[in-house]
Amino acid sequence: MASKFIFITGGVVSSLGKGIAASSIAALMEARGLRVTLVKMDPYINVDPGTMNPIEHGEVFVTEDGAETDMDLGHYERFSSAALTRLNNFTTGQIYDEVISKERRGDYLGTTVQVIPHITNEIKDRILKAAAGVDLCLVEVGGTTGDIESLPFLEAIRQLKTDLGRDNSLSIHVTLIPWMKSAGELKTKPTQHSVKELLSIGIQPDILLCRTEKPIDQELRRKIALFCNVTETCVIEAMDVPQVYEVPLKFHEEALDARICEKLNIWSAKPNLDRWRDLIQKLKSPKSQMLLGLVGKYMSLKESYKSLSEAILHAAVAEDLGVEIRYIDPEEIESGGAEVLKENLESVNAVIVPGGFGKRGVEGKIMALDYAREHRIPCLGICLGMQLMSVGFARKELGRKKAHSQEFQAETAEPVIHYLKGQSESIQKGGSMRLGSYPCQIQPETLSAKLYGKTEIRERHRHRLEFNSDYASDFEKNGFRLVGKSPDGKLVEMIELESHPFFVGVQFHPEFQSKPFEPHPLFVGLLQAAKANLV
Ligand code: GLN
Repeated sequence: MASKFIFITGGVVSSLGKGIAASSIAALMEARGLRVTLVKMDPYINVDPGTMNPIEHGEVFVTEDGAETDMDLGHYERFSSAALTRLNNFTTGQIYDEVISKERRGDYLGTTVQVIPHITNEIKDRILKAAAGVDLCLVEVGGTTGDIESLPFLEAIRQLKTDLGRDNSLSIHVTLIPWMKSAGELKTKPTQHSVKELLSIGIQPDILLCRTEKPIDQELRRKIALFCNVTETCVIEAMDVPQVYEVPLKFHEEALDARICEKLNIWSAKPNLDRWRDLIQKLKSPKSQMLLGLVGKYMSLKESYKSLSEAILHAAVAEDLGVEIRYIDPEEIESGGAEVLKENLESVNAVIVPGGFGKRGVEGKIMALDYAREHRIPCLGICLGMQLMSVGFARKELGRKKAHSQEFQAETAEPVIHYLKGQSESIQKGGSMRLGSYPCQIQPETLSAKLYGKTEIRERHRHRLEFNSDYASDFEKNGFRLVGKSPDGKLVEMIELESHPFFVGVQFHPEFQSKPFEPHPLFVGLLQAAKANLV
């Protein structure tokens, strides 16, 4: 069991960046030598976010063991070296599901099953389980204090704080100090109310992380401290910053990590944050600029491509590039035709077609991929992107005009992308996907092998359909090389186009494994190819 716990709640409004706050604290504590892990508790009733619309919920992050989780887990993994699994994210739906199954099995021996203690015990058990083997476990509660939905989670935290003992747990409340333009003042009242709300549930925050657009002066800190029963030094300013990777540094300047160590009675050396400073330095002053076209469906919410845009950023830092992302709507390409296609893609230095589900925009994505192929623009196709690279190539270069994916045309005469045989209709609809990390063998002497620097890799998947190997030799003969396969050789995982500077498609999602200090080789490769074309 982890010896120490930090519970993170949010007040006043949603979208305060609790996930980034938790991740940044994890980064600082890891830099002090602690082994950390993080847990996200989501108050909604869905069992997991897998079936939720990305526009509503943001990205679905896939863990190594194949759990479909909240996008905050992506931040957790990028900021720390914690290896997260399905234990690290649970929802109200999962908790109730488990408790009701136990009740049906007769595990509660005739007692009345209630929120307290049955639901709260299940929550506590899960937190403790996720914390096994680390020094510090950070637990983030989704939603905003005062929501009906999050009450059982807060109650579980209240109880755990007593169970764990004083020195072993800490409550951090992330709150908003809004700037009132008309009064020319920062306002503390919403924070006072939100802390009162927490107190009424029995939780006294130890540290307040105050999100603000203006600096919080000493006088204001005194006031917040007085009304919220915290010491002045525990009122931490969390100013808006342009880059999330600056947050650990800002928190450190505010001595947040030192306060945490005091309160949790942790003895550790000062953290060495040089690599973070270095990262920010590189981010702020790239040598050259480039434009990357991202052709995806969920254009109205950039959050749905979070891991992807972060992966691009990590590679950009590695290549000393500033990358502007142009979000291109494939439906506009579809309706606008060749002219709109050219307008959008002519000036981009690289193209990415990311993963996706559903028919909308598919033809526009194929047009964009064909354009990148024909105009030798460096291009990375991810999951659906790779599948559509294959469809486009089959139609135009293999003369298979009817080529399609069975996802979009079940009866297609040329199913170059198909459901695996034996995958029954019910499984297709029931949501059984290839999820999580799988091994892949890369053919030596290929661009991919060179970029990875090895031929045995593991990457994370989230899809149902696969490349149809019946077409393998036709593709191969025409320079569309199937360079990465599952160890049994049956599943095509990576493709590369010969005689193109970079036309790479992958059935997996490389973006889930990219980190600021470990940029992913495929994104680095894409930007290297783009850089070669910059004037
Ligand atoms: N819809 C495709 C499939 O299910 C691709 C999924 C994806 O891009 N993540 O195989």
